[in-house]
Amino acid sequence: MNVLVINCGSSSLKYQLVDMRDESVLAKGLVERIGIEGSVLKHETTGKEKAVIEQPMENHKVALELVIAALTDENHGAIKGMNEINAVGHRVVHGGEKFSGSVIIDGDVIKAMEECVELAPLHNPPNLMGISACKEIMPNVPMVGVFDTAFHQTMPKSSYIYPLPYELYEKYGIRKYGFHGTSHKYVAQRTAALLDRPLEDLKIVTCHLGNGASVTAIDGGKSIDTSMGFTPLEGLAMGTRCGDLDPAIVTFIMEKENLDIEGINNLLNKKSGVLGISGVSSDFRDIENAAKEGNERAQLSLDKFDIRVRKYVAAYAAVMGGVDAIVFTAGLGENSATNREEIVRGLEFMGVKICSERNKTRGKEVIVSTDDSKVKVLVIPTNEELMIARDTQELLK
Ligand code: AMP
Repeated sequence: MNVLVINCGSSSLKYQLVDMRDESVLAKGLVERIGIEGSVLKHETTGKEKAVIEQPMENHKVALELVIAALTDENHGAIKGMNEINAVGHRVVHGGEKFSGSVIIDGDVIKAMEECVELAPLHNPPNLMGISACKEIMPNVPMVGVFDTAFHQTMPKSSYIYPLPYELYEKYGIRKYGFHGTSHKYVAQRTAALLDRPLEDLKIVTCHLGNGASVTAIDGGKSIDTSMGFTPLEGLAMGTRCGDLDPAIVTFIMEKENLDIEGINNLLNKKSGVLGISGVSSDFRDIENAAKEGNERAQLSLDKFDIRVRKYVAAYAAVMGGVDAIVFTAGLGENSATNREEIVRGLEFMGVKICSERNKTRGKEVIVSTDDSKVKVLVIPTNEELMIARDTQELLK
């Protein structure tokens, strides 16, 4: 079975075609600037030269048609015809309380997804656009929805309820939902495989540290707490998002800086985090370079980032009553040895010992703790696309 994995953003479309016989990636690519001047499709079939197609794409349907054309192209394509796409797996950001697992997409599911739009007004509409484009272009190909929030639906109420008037939860669904679920689930499963122990017996803290970042407590394979909340703004200091704050700061800034709702949302989501503190960049590579050159605010932003991750890791160990493994994944988690070392540096008291030499390894799954470390520390490259493809195959079996 070939599964086309699709991840639609407001002006982008990422895709991967996976052959489920051996889980190999046949082709992958990215469309950018959909609906904006300068639309471009970058396509790559495994083993062939990359193709860059620049032409106007007014909406996601036009973009998807070009993706199918690229996938079936005589020269740079991966398949002979659209009939070799057997299923489509869609990444959907928010499933609210309606979806605690992946589902086959039908009319009722689309209706339920539309009801979740209020919870993720920026993310769910483009996901729905991708689904509707696929339905039009490939009406007979089955589709599956895989939700970022679904894995966290196992959290106990004491984790997900906010200390706000309870009626607000009932009226508006204000609660912690959590995100990056597909990634946290994937690395937890890989951790069990690498440690050769059943997932059901393990207490794991997974750290997905990318431009967006979250930490999850996974007990016996189930998410029981996670750092992102009602939206992806809560928790860690991120590339441009502030994470945890005294909520009183929000109204204080609005008043002092004369900001409306859009203005404050923009400040907290786009101008804060390590970018806000450092004033340098949201990209950790730029910040690390600036810190090396003596930029104190750049160093301060890294210190803030690391200490917050460390606090969440220790807190989640306490929530679970222990921890067997700490896992790092995503852009920064997979690549930055110095940040990993800094994060776990304060955790020796919990029995965490990292091996500097092993910690230098990049680009593959590796245990970076010392042999005598009570708590194992692992680096596991995430693979959300593969998880989506697997769920799609599983549901359509
Ligand atoms: P992601 O959102 O998972 O794509 O991760 C993107 C983030 O990972 C960016 O902020 C990058 O700065 C960071 N990143 C990627 N490679 C490295 C690296 N070698 N060292 C430090 N940070 C990195």
